[in-house]
Amino acid sequence: MPFIAFARPDIGQAEINAVARVMRSGWVTTGPETRAFEQDFAAHLGGGVQAIAVNSATAGLHLALEAIGIKPGDQVIAPTLTFTATVEVARYLNADAALVDVDASTLCIDPACIEAAITPRTKAIVPMHYGGLACDMTAVFDIARRHGLYVVEDAAHALPATCQGTLIGQLPSAAAVFSFYANKTMTTGEGGMVVTRDTALAARMRTMRLHGINRDAFDRFQSRTPAWYYEVVAPGFKYNMTDIAAALGRVQLQRLPEFVQRRQQLAARYRAELQDLPLILPADAPPGETHAWHLYVIRLADQARVTRDELIQTLSDAGIGTSVHYVPLHRQPYWRDRYNLEPKQFPVAERAYQRMISIPLFTAMSDDEQGRVIAALRAALR
Ligand SMILES: *Cc1c(COP(=O)(O)O)cnc(C)c1O
Repeated sequence: MPFIAFARPDIGQAEINAVARVMRSGWVTTGPETRAFEQDFAAHLGGGVQAIAVNSATAGLHLALEAIGIKPGDQVIAPTLTFTATVEVARYLNADAALVDVDASTLCIDPACIEAAITPRTKAIVPMHYGGLACDMTAVFDIARRHGLYVVEDAAHALPATCQGTLIGQLPSAAAVFSFYANKTMTTGEGGMVVTRDTALAARMRTMRLHGINRDAFDRFQSRTPAWYYEVVAPGFKYNMTDIAAALGRVQLQRLPEFVQRRQQLAARYRAELQDLPLILPADAPPGETHAWHLYVIRLADQARVTRDELIQTLSDAGIGTSVHYVPLHRQPYWRDRYNLEPKQFPVAERAYQRMISIPLFTAMSDDEQGRVIAALRAALR
């Protein structure tokens, strides 16, 4: 039987045509497609946000922390159950990460743990919408307001997700950062988008995205000032998105409603057909809210008679790819050693980690493929 990969991008002829058109156009780096993608993305979210296209979400998170003024010695609070990119960007700025535990039901950052981690060095909270389910942002904003902290959302999983009826990207945080990495809910190969409502932050991020130059190359070739003239106002980065990636992203964004619907369908079938097994299934979004379903993370319940590693092996033998999201950062040598972290400081994330498996959920997955995943899980756990 053919192997079912953990994830596979959903790229059709329209995406291929869009990329081919840009490649024939004579302009392949940041230009009209990137600008149009930013406009499409901002319009898609609505609410008057500005969108800044970058070459990865990691770059976007770095730009956001730089723009809010994170300095050496500052501290940002983030969940331990995330990808290292969420907090490595603080280290780029010689700031520190304060890693905290997550909520047992949602696996998103636990607001009570945020509160307990605040020190005079704390400058920002970086919540991550785990798996595509929005964090308790009401609690996060309340803490941020009371302590004068910025909120920068790692929204890599959260396109599209809602919190209290508002799309992630439209909430009143300093910035939210989406990822278009190959396995995310839409892709540009590599890429990301920062959104903000703050004009000054947006301007700073646009400048720092391209070498600290105050206008990008396309502007120079369009405007009436001499094309050769530009000004460097800061030691910026090389984080701009190419028009090739943006063309791919524009088509994927148009297909997003179709993608969301398929992901919801796959998640609903998993819930219906796995609920009698000794598993903790991922939390649904509250009624009326949207879950982006980037990941489908199951956890073995106490009654299960197999271990996480045994189940991964059984699924692999059945030709099914899985993953684990994530090895918590407190177990990663760099973070563990830098902050002397121990598993007992993060009981919820630790317990979840020991029992979790991410099973395939991607729009290009067929009903038959999902049926095989369900059958293999039922056979292994019955
Ligand atoms: C994918 C991901 C990122 C990084 O995204 P890139 O676009 O690959 O830089 C950051 N945080 C989380 C939680 C992610 O899943």
